[in-house]
Amino acid sequence: MHPDSHHPVPDLKQLVLVGGGHSQLQVLMSLAMQPIPGLRTVLISKDTMTGYSGMLPGYIAGHYTFDQTHIDLRRLCAWAGVVFIEDSVVGLETTTRKLATARHGDIHYDWLSINIGSTPNRRHITGQTDRLIPVKPIDQFLQQLDRIERRVMDAGQPLRLGVIGAGAAGVEVLLSLKYRLERQRGATSSASDFEFHLFNAADSILPTHNSRVRRFFLEHLSREGIVVHDNFEVVALESVDVLSRIGERVAVDEVILTTSAAPQPWPGRAGLQVDERGFIEVNAFLQSCSHPEIFAAGDIAAFTPSPTEKAGVFAVRQGRPLAENLRRTIAGRPLKPYRAQKKWLALLACGDRYAVASRGHFFARGRWVWRWKDHIDRKFMRMFQDLPDMPQPERPHLAEGLLAGNEKLVRNLGMRCAGCGAKVGGDVLQGVLDSLHQGLNGAVAGEIARRDDAAVIDVPPGRLLLQSIDYFTALVDDPWELGRIAANHALGDIYAMGGQPHSALALASLPYGNEQLLAETLRMMLEGAMSLFSDAGVALIGGHTSEAAELSLGFSVNGFVTPEKLLRKSGMQPGDVLLMTQPIGTGVLFAGHQQARAQGVWLEQAITNMTRSYRHAAEILQTHGATACTDVTGFGLLGHLLEMLRPSNQSLCLDIAAIPLLPGALTLSAEGIRSSLFPANSKARHVITNLEQAHRHAAFELLFDPQTAGGLMAFVPAASAEACLQQLQQYYPDAARVGEVVETDTAEAAIEITGY
Ligand SMILES: Cc1cc2nc3c(=O)[nH]c(=O)nc-3n(C[C@H](O)[C@H](O)[C@H](O)COP(=O)(O)OP(=O)(O)OC[C@H]3O[C@@H](n4cnc5c(N)ncnc54)[C@H](O)[C@@H]3O)c2cc1C
Repeated sequence: MHPDSHHPVPDLKQLVLVGGGHSQLQVLMSLAMQPIPGLRTVLISKDTMTGYSGMLPGYIAGHYTFDQTHIDLRRLCAWAGVVFIEDSVVGLETTTRKLATARHGDIHYDWLSINIGSTPNRRHITGQTDRLIPVKPIDQFLQQLDRIERRVMDAGQPLRLGVIGAGAAGVEVLLSLKYRLERQRGATSSASDFEFHLFNAADSILPTHNSRVRRFFLEHLSREGIVVHDNFEVVALESVDVLSRIGERVAVDEVILTTSAAPQPWPGRAGLQVDERGFIEVNAFLQSCSHPEIFAAGDIAAFTPSPTEKAGVFAVRQGRPLAENLRRTIAGRPLKPYRAQKKWLALLACGDRYAVASRGHFFARGRWVWRWKDHIDRKFMRMFQDLPDMPQPERPHLAEGLLAGNEKLVRNLGMRCAGCGAKVGGDVLQGVLDSLHQGLNGAVAGEIARRDDAAVIDVPPGRLLLQSIDYFTALVDDPWELGRIAANHALGDIYAMGGQPHSALALASLPYGNEQLLAETLRMMLEGAMSLFSDAGVALIGGHTSEAAELSLGFSVNGFVTPEKLLRKSGMQPGDVLLMTQPIGTGVLFAGHQQARAQGVWLEQAITNMTRSYRHAAEILQTHGATACTDVTGFGLLGHLLEMLRPSNQSLCLDIAAIPLLPGALTLSAEGIRSSLFPANSKARHVITNLEQAHRHAAFELLFDPQTAGGLMAFVPAASAEACLQQLQQYYPDAARVGEVVETDTAEAAIEITGY
């Protein structure tokens, strides 16, 4: 079926990918190359940067950087047109097709694909198990690695390090870590500084590899002075000792766990068919043996046609068949079997840019093997790092599986009209408000219960009512994050005026879709917003939702202020100091994000800042006698400054070098990326008295970058500026003193840029 190409294709059904593991990376690639019209795809991952296991030993040894060995899921999703949600899945309800998440509530799926990896099994170890450092999840392991390094380097202490598990991961981790630590210690290193132990429950290391590989590593470990403890099944940890089943003891300071893989418990608890260890049993199509709408790949899957090892090589190989079978199941076409290879090539790193190749009976070793491994790994990573522009299909074709249950919606596609204001059915908003209502405290719930045709607000005697509205198109795809950002942005106006926020009305536009998806998007947005509103004591008293091509959200916020506390944009005096609470750069960062050019970690930092409440800032600025205040938003720093200075024609020295900037803002700005409001904002440059000189500063263009939830900017008397700044920095680490009002004889507001 071909929908009319003049009308956007609504989101009819939802594919949820849980975990950005090796297999699912290829599902993202496939969706980027050939989008499925009418399908909304969501990736839920507990981290933005997902590690590539093949390069992990090289990263531990110090041959690669973090960025070389990790894939930026936020960026990859932006490129692939997939909604990225940073969260952990903690449960599954298969009858209602809902996933439980740690922060985003329940997320509905029509099809589900799970690629969440595994963690080393620690079930049989007792005692001080908090001393165990599992090698997975990789991000947590890397944090521990930093700590171990600090212990060795900063404190100069000797180290006894043990690794439990003598499979490929254990041997590679131990050799790489030894190489790194000894290199770090460098010339000052002595033989007594380190002791390394490998604990092996079986009687031979690397049990899945051939005898020549095993022999090589045994000799290599011995040459490296590593003590291998065969038949040493670790059963307990005591203060410094590792204990075996037969009572042997070895003292170690740090214990890394690389034992055989164990699954997360929630798939098994949900009633999915799992094997005796708890891994999801899948058929030849990588489809759950018990639930045909659920797929699984990588370590978490137990491939029933021929059990495979828990190795990245299988997770990678399963990527394409997984993508193909998801596409086929959505299209209602027969699935294609995946055939796992019987023999597979393992390239094992030895620490010092030396590697061993192992496949069946094949064995090779040398620096050339390392170079070969390096070439393969870098090539794999480039697929997800060098992202080409993708042409969009012109005439969308709706797959069969997407139509089922959505026939009426699709039939009426061409009949969408503005006659009803593209309003979303009242039931959707009502249902969401009711579900929010249940989660609210008594006072706020009372307000909503009294909902009527219009909200009725009692203005307490002696107070003034403040009202403000803000609304913008989604800069992030995650509705929950968008809700938090939009709420904070809207509250900024009330706080900037010295007010206490009271209540809010929501204005939302939801991308065309079926009611279930609309309701879920709305719920997530409003729940996200409520997480900030609740903290501010704000009641959500109603709203209006409509359908549109793009997701947008805004709030009209009410607040109260006593006349003596009312803060205005103008009112500053010569000598007053200009303080900023937060760094700027959101405009350029999210413009870069739209082109998949912004790094995920930059966006994360931006989001952290954009959702940092202004409440403390407002209180602190009041306490220190702020003379003028505003929130930094769409006009950019300079536009807002001009608004502040103009009413009383004040002049300002602005220290451009002191302006706090978000990570990545300068990089993207230097690449020529600009937000769409930039040209209009940059007209404010006429206020700069030394434009030619100012123009040469790298941060110059960022003065016109439009901000979303960009923090407060206020003037305070010079005498209290330092104390005020110190207090601000307790809550806003980037708060800075950036300028000073100066006496001039000009009749107009003017800004001189300093700080070269
Ligand atoms: C040191 C080391 C070296 C290795 N070297 C090799 C090698 O050279 N060759 C090889 O074939 N294998 C190797 N392996 C094994 C390999 O790491 C795993 O088999 C492989 O990573 C499994 O990939 P995956 O796609 O199943 O999951 P992973 O790569 O582990 O990815 C899982 C993803 O899911 C996310 N996630 C997890 N739980 C949740 C949740 N509840 N909600 C949301 N997101 C979640 C994680 O954040 C992660 O991004 C090595 C392992 C280690 C530890």
